[in-house]
Amino acid sequence: MSPATIDPGTLTRELLAFNTINPPGMERACAQHLGAILEAAGYSLAYHDFAPGRTSLIARIGSGSGAPLCFTGHIDTVPLGAAPWSRDAFAGETDGDRMYGRGSTDMKSGIAAFVVAAVELAREAARGPGLLIVITAGEEIGCEGAKYLANHHLLGTARAVVIAEPTGNYPYVGHKGLAWFEIETYGVTAPGSLPEVGDNAIVKMANVIGDLAHFRFPVESHPVMGKPTMNVGTIRGGLNTNSVPDEARITLDTRTVPGIDHGHLCDSLQALLAPRGAKVRKIVDCAALYTEPANEWVQQVFELCTPYLGGRPQPKTITFSTDGADLKRGFGNGLPAVILGPGEPTLAHQTDEWCSMERIGQSTELFRTLMRKWNA
Ligand SMILES: [Zn+2]
Repeated sequence: MSPATIDPGTLTRELLAFNTINPPGMERACAQHLGAILEAAGYSLAYHDFAPGRTSLIARIGSGSGAPLCFTGHIDTVPLGAAPWSRDAFAGETDGDRMYGRGSTDMKSGIAAFVVAAVELAREAARGPGLLIVITAGEEIGCEGAKYLANHHLLGTARAVVIAEPTGNYPYVGHKGLAWFEIETYGVTAPGSLPEVGDNAIVKMANVIGDLAHFRFPVESHPVMGKPTMNVGTIRGGLNTNSVPDEARITLDTRTVPGIDHGHLCDSLQALLAPRGAKVRKIVDCAALYTEPANEWVQQVFELCTPYLGGRPQPKTITFSTDGADLKRGFGNGLPAVILGPGEPTLAHQTDEWCSMERIGQSTELFRTLMRKWNA
């Protein structure tokens, strides 16, 4: 029996109806909806919860004659934000070419595009190296679902991966890594009238921030990504104006390029700031993702995207982070990865988020062609 055809716009709308705002996420029902569609087309399924209700889905099809092509996307979304929406965030309202809703761009449209293509190509994939569909929970806060799948060796093998995050159908070859640190300084409290009796933690922190301005990353630049960056994002210290503060804290956001190990980065910061008595702790860690643009499969993807972009894509990396680095670690074979999906990169996490339905259709076509070539 041939699988029923689904329209990617309709599937996007169905996925928008599941409230998967993270926190709390609660992705299970949405994952099961996608699982039922893929199972009916002949895929074998495995559900994996990293916490109660926090469900990721792995769906496979193939003859075992080679490694499959992997498509991946996260089903959780960010919260709606403080500003009121002018559209229903869960109804998939349309206006001309636009479909509105939280997750329409980031990234339920991307998931709908590859799931529809995967259903249509199920028969070919069953006779060839196959397809691996990885739907993750918990991406928006520290890639929790992808980390769980990688850490528990649940992914199996694949030879290339498409991450269908919002890129307006432009293929990107990676993104910087992200490492956040918390830095604390300590002192001795005393009355504000007798500062010489105390030891001021805020003054120490001011020196720490001065020292950070002279920090040099071990890799100064990357040919495609550019330079690593550092930003002091928050600062807190002191309890009242008339006391010498005995504690101060900052958080630091670094964005790294390949070749910078986040553990070593933490050690280098600690070594730099030790003379100030500061303590450095890594609080968030997502590795960089990069594939050499000269890779043969990447070139094939560039070729296929060209007609949709009005020109051949240039090697570029994107400014947000993805599940890609964790999944690549889980596959353990340095496979090529591209970030390519129908959503609008500028609309991710915005009020009144929307996705172009024309782009969803183009993305489905592109994915179908990639799947067909892989399984020819
Ligand atoms: Zn996303």
